[in-house]
Formats: sequence, structure tokens, C-alpha cells
Amino acid sequence: MKASPWEKEDALHEDIQILDNHVPKIFVVEDGKLKGMTFEKVHAVFNEKGKRSLVPTGEPEVFIEADDVLVAIGLENTFPWVEKSTGVEFGEWGMPIVDAVTFQSTNKSVFFGGDSAFGPKNVITAVAHGHQAAISINLYLKEKSLTERPSPFVNLVSQKMGIHEWSYDSEVENDLRYAVPHAAKAATLTDRKMEVELGFDVQTALKEARRCLNCDVQTVFVKDRCIECDACMDICPTSCITFTANGEEEDLRTRLKAPSLNLTQSLYVSDTLPTSRVMVKDEDVCLHCGLCAERCPTSAWDMQQFLYKVTKAC
Ligand code: SF4
Ligand code: SF4
Repeated sequence: MKASPWEKEDALHEDIQILDNHVPKIFVVEDGKLKGMTFEKVHAVFNEKGKRSLVPTGEPEVFIEADDVLVAIGLENTFPWVEKSTGVEFGEWGMPIVDAVTFQSTNKSVFFGGDSAFGPKNVITAVAHGHQAAISINLYLKEKSLTERPSPFVNLVSQKMGIHEWSYDSEVENDLRYAVPHAAKAATLTDRKMEVELGFDVQTALKEARRCLNCDVQTVFVKDRCIECDACMDICPTSCITFTANGEEEDLRTRLKAPSLNLTQSLYVSDTLPTSRVMVKDEDVCLHCGLCAERCPTSAWDMQQFLYKVTKAC
């Protein structure tokens, strides 16, 4: 079934049975009363661009009894009001042909975004498209290149506040994600205005927040401050720091303290240190716990929060 994972999860939570690949065909009405619906069984076929089509399997139609039917069978683009003479071209599925970066259509002064241009996503994506389209329109009106777009805001801010005081919790939490508690089904299924998700209480919210891996806090290494005491290598709980002789990547990966198995993750290799070694860090196993920075006597390691802000129209 084509739906977001959270929509499926919510449906299953309310005991809704999901029957995949059944296309509604006919409302069955007897003596003026709805009896149910017949469905055609189909299977998904994907074209070379990954677009899905539902093709009948040839099996007999399926009848399902029903007292009521809620019609929710997807979306369709309807742009009959956009005349061909405007120069806006439409592709398969009636979607306008739009540049994925600039949101410009084949008529250079017309821009599209959101579901109408790229298919069903969520409102956050549609708002982001709106910002990017507005930037394009601004550039277009100023007769500037639409591909030379304003850069995002990027910054690193040191998180160290004192020798033993950190902005982030350094403990490793093995807890699984805490599920948000729901109101009783008997109540929510009879009152459609009732809020289903109750939210976390303070204690659970704190536990959930502690599961954060601090991915926004980076370990920043300043080679010229390092006195090669190897203290960070000793304290790192995942052995992701190694001081060793430099070499080809394939060879270097075999000489790290912890096996470097994820070949898609680049290694960080410092410039050559005074003893002719280099500091090699495998980011793939770093917990961002900050212990290396706390242990380092010269602040050669520093924990810095990475900030990234997409440019928005205002
Ligand atoms: S932040 Fe923690 S896991 Fe990462 S390199 Fe430093 S000590 Fe090791
Ligand atoms: S603890 Fe600091 S000074 Fe010592 S080896 Fe690590 S980075 Fe260099």
C-alpha cells in the first residue's frame, strides 16, 4: 500500500486491516442500500524511472461487505485551466515539467512546487519548495542566473563551557525509541475530535532526549595544538582515534584501532604530526561523547556544534 509508514502504523493501531493491491471497482447497492464494494486485484509494475503502475492480476474480483465507504483513493493533478499556448508543458501523470532545483517550468516565468509538481509529500516539503521557488522568482525578476543560488548559513560553535561541564550529555544510552502514549482506543474511535497522541510526560521526554547521539556536535581536531600524548586514543570508548604512520587508504583502514568496515564513510586523516605520524579518525564509530575533548590537555580536540540553515525567502 502506498502510504507513509506512520500512516500505516496509525491505521494498524486502530485495528484497520490493510489489504494490499485491491483497486475499488463498484459500489454494490441492493434495494437502495449499500452492501459493500467489489475490488479488482492488481500487482505493482515499475517502469525504468521507478514510477509505479497497478496491473490487474486476472484473478476474480473480491467483494467486501460494508455499511459505509470512505473514499480516499489518492491524488490527481488537474490543470485543465493551464492552456497549451502558455508554453507550460506537462509530462506523464499530468505533472508539469519542472526543474528540481529552480522549480521553473518550461515557461520560464511560471514556477511550480509542492505535490502538484513532484507528487504527494508533506506540507513541510511544500513550504520548502515555496521558499526555493520564491528565491528563483526573485533572481528571475533581477535577470540573474537561477542556478547561482544564495548559499546556506553554515557555522561551527564551540560547545565547551568548562573543563567538566558540557552542554550535552556524554553518556551512551542503549534505550530503544520511546513510543508516544495514545489515548484509549475506545474513546478516540468514538470521538473523532479527541487528540490521539498524548505526548510524553516530563520524565519520558528527558529519557527520549538522552537518546540523542549529538550528531550536530562535531569533533574538531587542530593539529598544531596536539602534543601527541595519545590520551584521546586511550579514552575513546569506541577506539575510533588512531595515531599511526600514514599510508594508502586500503592499508590505513587495516591499521586502525577499531575495524574500519564501512567503506562508504571517508576517514579523517590529519596533516603529518611532529613524530611523522598522522591522526586518523573513523567517524563511522564516533559516539560524539566528547571524552576526547575533555581529556585532551591542549584543546587539540574541541566539540563544536554544527549549524546549517537553508536559505529562505522572506
Ligand atoms: S567524541 Fe567520543 S567516540 Fe568520538 S572520537 Fe571523541 S572520545 Fe571517541
Ligand atoms: S589528547 Fe590531545 S594532545 Fe593528546 S594526542 Fe589526543 S589530541 Fe593530541
